[in-house]
Amino acid sequence: MRINVIGGGPAGLYFALLMRRHDASREVTVYERNPPDATFGWGVVFSGRTLRNLREADEVSHRRITESFETWDNVDVVLRDSKVTVRGNDFSGISRLRLLNILQERCEEAGVRLRFQTEVEDVDALAADCDLLVGADGVASAVRERYAGEFRPTVERGRNKYIWYGTRRLFHGLTLTFRETVEGVFAAHSYKFGRELSTFIVECDEETWARAGLGGMTDGEARAYLARVFAADLGGQELLSNNSRWINFLLVKNARWSRRNVVLLGDALHTAHFSIGSGTKLALEDSIALFRLFEAGLDVHAALAEFERTRKPVVEEYQQAAHESRVWFERAREYVRLDPLPFAYSLMTRSKRVNVESLRRRDPSFVAAYEAAARA
Ligand SMILES: Cc1cc2nc3c(=O)[nH]c(=O)nc-3n(C[C@H](O)[C@H](O)[C@H](O)COP(=O)(O)OP(=O)(O)OC[C@H]3O[C@@H](n4cnc5c(N)ncnc54)[C@H](O)[C@@H]3O)c2cc1C
Repeated sequence: MRINVIGGGPAGLYFALLMRRHDASREVTVYERNPPDATFGWGVVFSGRTLRNLREADEVSHRRITESFETWDNVDVVLRDSKVTVRGNDFSGISRLRLLNILQERCEEAGVRLRFQTEVEDVDALAADCDLLVGADGVASAVRERYAGEFRPTVERGRNKYIWYGTRRLFHGLTLTFRETVEGVFAAHSYKFGRELSTFIVECDEETWARAGLGGMTDGEARAYLARVFAADLGGQELLSNNSRWINFLLVKNARWSRRNVVLLGDALHTAHFSIGSGTKLALEDSIALFRLFEAGLDVHAALAEFERTRKPVVEEYQQAAHESRVWFERAREYVRLDPLPFAYSLMTRSKRVNVESLRRRDPSFVAAYEAAARA
């Protein structure tokens, strides 16, 4: 079997690795436009369940990934001068670059051909040259565009502006910080992903962004402005840029997930708002799901049909939770009027997948404090 994969992100590399590792007669090639050490992005977050799936699929990469982890169980919610901590969660952070390097190494060990600095322009030619073409080429997927008539994608733009920075300030836990300025409300999502660095994503609504003049600022000016907004949180550390730019979240869905011998995986197929930290998880779990169908002996046609039938409801459920979460952040300006405990409760239950009982199991003392405050 000959497999071409466009895109050497988490989805493409992991699928290539699994397919080749379990059957060395498969010829697997990954085409990636960037060099192997391109550092677009900072850290990504995983939850405990994702890790169990990764261990079952490939123990070696699971071990290397978990050795590089920072782990924590707390979500810290910072509003005005209060910090509310909610424990009992199960998160891990890893640098995106480290994750990609581990998957690249594993692909090489398994005999996957990795073609870096190779931009694919002719999708048709690559599709004609293999039994299976995987479009794992990210949110702006050329494969999805090429066959848009069959995939029937929709792309919806989120209302908030956001930007992905790093900082040397270490946030020991998933820290969600809300700061009000005369221009409006800014939210930061931060967490450490190594011994020295944290991810620091800032988001705000378009009106706040415009009033602050962020669109007209240079990179350095924007970082200096936001470092002042979050001065109490950054402890004197600056915000670090890494090709960072302001964007609006794009919600990608596809009515059909494959056509003939071509299938989409990861962000090319679906996105989920970063506030539930599931993009990389969904990308890796897509790869596992599709791989397992081939392992079960299905041919390309049957595997692609079954992939869509079984995986789509799972992804749609995540997208729904991520949608609720995104809308909560888009309305943050209404919630910041709350006191810190009801605010933290509202934030923790925003995706509608966590309720008072599941929160009580995670952190009974937080729920007791919240209920006592509600009765007072
Ligand atoms: C601000 C922000 C924060 C995030 N935080 C998290 C988080 O905490 N946890 C989490 O799990 N996820 C997070 N994500 C999401 C995560 O980055 C993506 O969901 C994940 O990387 C998807 O993996 P992928 O392999 O599908 O796509 P990508 O990682 O985008 O990889 C696609 C690859 O394809 C390559 N490519 C594209 N077109 C071509 C072409 N024509 N030829 C050759 N190569 C091509 C690209 O260079 C790229 O390497 C975040 C995203 C953003 C923007």
